Amino acid sequence: MKSHIGLIGLAVMGQNLALNIARKGYKVSVYNRTAQRTEEFVKNRVTNEEIEPHYDIESFVKSLERPRKIILMVKAGKPVDDTISQLLPHLEPGDLIIDGGNSHYMDTERRFKELSEKGILFLGMGVSGGEYGALYGPSLMPGGSREAYNLVEEILLKIAAKTEDGPCCTYVGERSAGHFVKMVHNGIEYAIMQAIAEVYHIMRDVLSLSSEEMSSIFEEWNRGELSSFLVEITYKILRKKDEETGKPMVDVILDKAEQKGTGKWTSQAALDLGIPTPSINLAVVERVISHFKDIRTRLSKLYNKRRSATQGSEEFLRDLRNSLFFAMFMAFSQGMWLIAEASKEFGYGVNLSEVLRIWKGGCIIRAKLIDTLRRYISNENAYLLENEEVMNLLKGKIDSLKNILKASIENEIPVPVLNSSYNYFMSLTEERLPANLIQAQRDFFGAHTFERVDREGVFHINWEEGEIG
Ligand code: NDP
Repeated sequence: MKSHIGLIGLAVMGQNLALNIARKGYKVSVYNRTAQRTEEFVKNRVTNEEIEPHYDIESFVKSLERPRKIILMVKAGKPVDDTISQLLPHLEPGDLIIDGGNSHYMDTERRFKELSEKGILFLGMGVSGGEYGALYGPSLMPGGSREAYNLVEEILLKIAAKTEDGPCCTYVGERSAGHFVKMVHNGIEYAIMQAIAEVYHIMRDVLSLSSEEMSSIFEEWNRGELSSFLVEITYKILRKKDEETGKPMVDVILDKAEQKGTGKWTSQAALDLGIPTPSINLAVVERVISHFKDIRTRLSKLYNKRRSATQGSEEFLRDLRNSLFFAMFMAFSQGMWLIAEASKEFGYGVNLSEVLRIWKGGCIIRAKLIDTLRRYISNENAYLLENEEVMNLLKGKIDSLKNILKASIENEIPVPVLNSSYNYFMSLTEERLPANLIQAQRDFFGAHTFERVDREGVFHINWEEGEIG
């Protein structure tokens, strides 16, 4: 019997996804560039699943029912192009390739075009949830042609995470829509992770709380409106001890954050599309700063931080909790606005509420807050702020955020994402920004012209001698 589907790339994600698909009753052919990985996978992890290993591309392709459906879970970038090139001589028009890696959306755009010209169907599919999600139910964000999606919809809906609002998979939109949405998902993830880290920093260095104490606080928060995967793993992380030293595990981990690029890509796309995503941008910048450990160590000896130990009062902890909620909200606000703009600019046809729905389960940014966001999201209100109830919700948090920002300044603690959430909100709610002065400066030195508040038209004046036009 031929396999229903094939999967190439048997690293962490590929292995778990193949097992997930097979456990839903499908026969899966697998292939990996390095044969040893395939052998180990079959030996160590495959039990009674119908998984058929192949050690050359041709036999792998021949083992699939037609039209063939092949998921790639290989490293993003050139490996995806290399793998597609190897597959192409063996495929026929109507066959489908699904790139499930974290490919850049522009690469997906190019591959979609190149493959369409050859009659090969292509889906760029964001997969979120890490290895656990891949095995037990990820959030799937497929984009490409509807025709291609229809070929695999049944399988995707079966393997995706499930919530009370259905499976966490939907047809996201045209061409590179799926990878764009996955990229922004990761950008939001960067901002939320950094906001949590900033709150942890204040708890650790201002309130001098132990890891166990912090863990209990995050655990309690996870029962309320902050309930989310990232808060949940934070409390679990904080209570974990290092087996060697007996110290909290977080205290033996070097403070240098790595990144694979999806946060940076989100910021780059946002800057290109002209959408403000300051929380995401600063989360990326802060990971970059974290890398300069040597410089930070030297400079910390030249500048002694003034820290006044503060007691962790109930009010202060409430303010921290509210600030984190505010920052989380702004991360989603910025991300959804960016997706809405990309959908318009690139003609993706994304349904924003559906995107939020498929982020309710399986993925890293799943959070209770998403239910609230879904009540207010629309194409016109993608940034989610233009609603009285939302404003009332946020108004209830703003004094807390101000208190935390004051405390962070007082104690010289960097809180770039909490701070940028505040400034993003304050800028968007300011009718009269000082951009008039910037326009005047631009016109002064570069004759870049300006508009007036009292009449239509474009103006330029000679700033040192009077108006000329
Ligand atoms: P990696 O990103 O580490 O990629 C390893 C796989 O890519 C191996 O199967 C490897 O084969 C293959 N590969 C590398 N270079 C080539 C090449 N030139 N030609 C053919 N195959 C190649 O694996 P992950 O499982 O971590 O991730 C797979 C994809 O999923 C990536 O795009 C990743 O960004 C994305 N992703 C990962 C998540 C995670 O939590 N890890 C979560 C969500 C998405 P070989 O064994 O021969 O080296």
